Amino acid sequence: MQLTFRRFDLALRHSWTISHDLGSGGGKSICPVVFVELSDAQGRHGLGEGSPSSQYHESHETVAAFLQRVDARRLSFDDIPGSMAYLDTVAPGNYPAKCAVNLALLDGAAKAAVQPVYEFLGLGFTEGRHVTSFTIGLDTPETMARKTTEAADLPVLKMKLGSPRDRDNFAAVRGAAPGKPIRVDANAAWATKEIALANIEWLAADGNIQFVEQPMPPELPDADWMWLKARSPLPIFGDELYQSLADADRCARCVHGVNVKLVKTGGITAGQGALEAARARGLKTMLGCMIESSVLISAGAHLAELTDYLDLDGNLLITNDPYAGVRTEGGVMSFAGVNAGTGLRTGL
Ligand SMILES: [Mg+2]
Repeated sequence: MQLTFRRFDLALRHSWTISHDLGSGGGKSICPVVFVELSDAQGRHGLGEGSPSSQYHESHETVAAFLQRVDARRLSFDDIPGSMAYLDTVAPGNYPAKCAVNLALLDGAAKAAVQPVYEFLGLGFTEGRHVTSFTIGLDTPETMARKTTEAADLPVLKMKLGSPRDRDNFAAVRGAAPGKPIRVDANAAWATKEIALANIEWLAADGNIQFVEQPMPPELPDADWMWLKARSPLPIFGDELYQSLADADRCARCVHGVNVKLVKTGGITAGQGALEAARARGLKTMLGCMIESSVLISAGAHLAELTDYLDLDGNLLITNDPYAGVRTEGGVMSFAGVNAGTGLRTGL
């Protein structure tokens, strides 16, 4: 097996800010990702992507440093569990790098089986059923309203809160999209259970909020989360709270649902495990993303059948996607008409 990788800078349509960035001076306009290609002596080939997040202390440098240590001879399209077990011996963590390799392994294996990944995994993909939300990042109320207007054809919004201007920002978005369903993501910004409950009660009065993601820091004790879960008038979801299936029992106690991301768990294989562990405990499931090209977004779409909610809009937030894959029209994700019929169903 041969492994090559390259950095690619995704260009953002709008400067991107979440509450985590506010202390460090704000948003960013490019997002470096890393593409991995695997090929073997039999002519099989796979493509993957990792999108590192500063939120998890990852960068394209950490991804490159990990990949340089990988002995590609230990990877095989015929043994994905064994290949992933080998990657865990290279170094712990490094989930964006492991994600990129995992996607490439599954892409190659499913292509060799002449199947799309969703069939290779036995999941299927129901056309017309999977709707993604579209995320409005933190900004001034005026800009958030403009972004909301630009997203008029997308049926569900996800809105970032957790800035000092939350009430103004929410009023601006709601004013630009009266009655549209909104998901809220506070990115751990509300410091105590009392502050979180007060904010959730305010949001619940709107009548069209689907749920609130990561209202509080994941470090808060279970007792605080259970207090909030028992009182919250809206479902609460864990994202920073749910790193892997090892957190499933804690999340079942603390929240109503979880947000799984492929770069957070280390790929499709681990993402599938995290979604199935959550479902087995009665949690609602959501599949989210970082700023990503169509490679990672398509990879996520192959797991759509395991989710209640999708937030796979990373490729809609960029202007220079180097690949094509799953299509999103009016929020509905579809592989219909996509040229590539096997593997991740991505191409140039
Ligand atoms: Mg989130």
